[in-house]
Amino acid sequence: VEISTSYIHVLALTLSGATAFEHRSAVAVADAEAAAVLDLTGRSIRACLAALERDGIRPVGITLAVPGVVDARTGTVEYAPALGWRDLGVVDGLSARLDQPTPPIAVGNDAKLVAIAEYVQAQGKGVQDMICITGERGIGAGIITDGRLLRGSTGFAGEVGHMPLDPERRRCVCGRLGCWETMVGLDAIFRLAADVGDPVHDPHVELEDRLAELHRRARSGDVRTRQALSRVADDLALGIALLADVLNPEVVVLGGYFSYIGDLMLQRVREVVRARVMAQEAGGCEVVLSTLGFRAAARGGAHLALDAVYQDPSAV
Ligand code: BGC
Ligand code: ZN
Repeated sequence: VEISTSYIHVLALTLSGATAFEHRSAVAVADAEAAAVLDLTGRSIRACLAALERDGIRPVGITLAVPGVVDARTGTVEYAPALGWRDLGVVDGLSARLDQPTPPIAVGNDAKLVAIAEYVQAQGKGVQDMICITGERGIGAGIITDGRLLRGSTGFAGEVGHMPLDPERRRCVCGRLGCWETMVGLDAIFRLAADVGDPVHDPHVELEDRLAELHRRARSGDVRTRQALSRVADDLALGIALLADVLNPEVVVLGGYFSYIGDLMLQRVREVVRARVMAQEAGGCEVVLSTLGFRAAARGGAHLALDAVYQDPSAV
């Protein structure tokens, strides 16, 4: 289950990876009360569990992906800046809203779960050192070094969206000035590409449709859209180069919204990264697009749930 800033996505995967249930609702999560968001999430999960039961499928685990830092042991969202959540016990909150007995519930950071999905089944397959950058309203990363997901001392490793890179020092949702996500997150691309009032800003229109509209405009030669994309591509490459110099990944995967319009930025991103990164001397790092799109966090969540079953088969 992914709670993003603009939608709630429930995806159930079978052990062979087939989709058993999928439902996505467009919700202005960032503007809603946490309790209301959990109510809605609980309802979506109940609908999913009922559908699985009808089909004779037994769920083994639920993972909740959120756009923030989590404490997996306590099932708490420590800080999700775009949602304004702090120290929120989401696992307990959700358990209370589901009928008993429910499968075990875990919580994870959206970008780290996208990285897991990429690592297990997509662009990161067979790669030991990679950075997977997810573009949402904010920007997050899952960093895999030597085949292990980097968490850092308190779980904040990968909070790349808040690296202070913007010379214009715009105010970020986290309260700090000049965070990278104010330059390359979804709000930035929409702000650069269109005036207020333009339908691409309309939160009631599905995100994919708004991105498809930007894609169409760029292809048809719209100057403003093209300039917006190349500006974001430059700023994206700047942060990637910085991360690549620190971590020396083999591959950088761009997920989230980059899956939808990143093809129009990729050439420029690669050029700038090639020109900047020191490791270029030894072949550099590859920059590729995720093909999993906005479904990736929920997929990563399914992998995580399965992992828990491998560790404790008696749970099945
Ligand atoms: C949050 C990250 C999250 C990213 C993408 C950032 O604002 O701090 O935790 O991964 O947005 O949703
Ligand atoms: Zn910030």
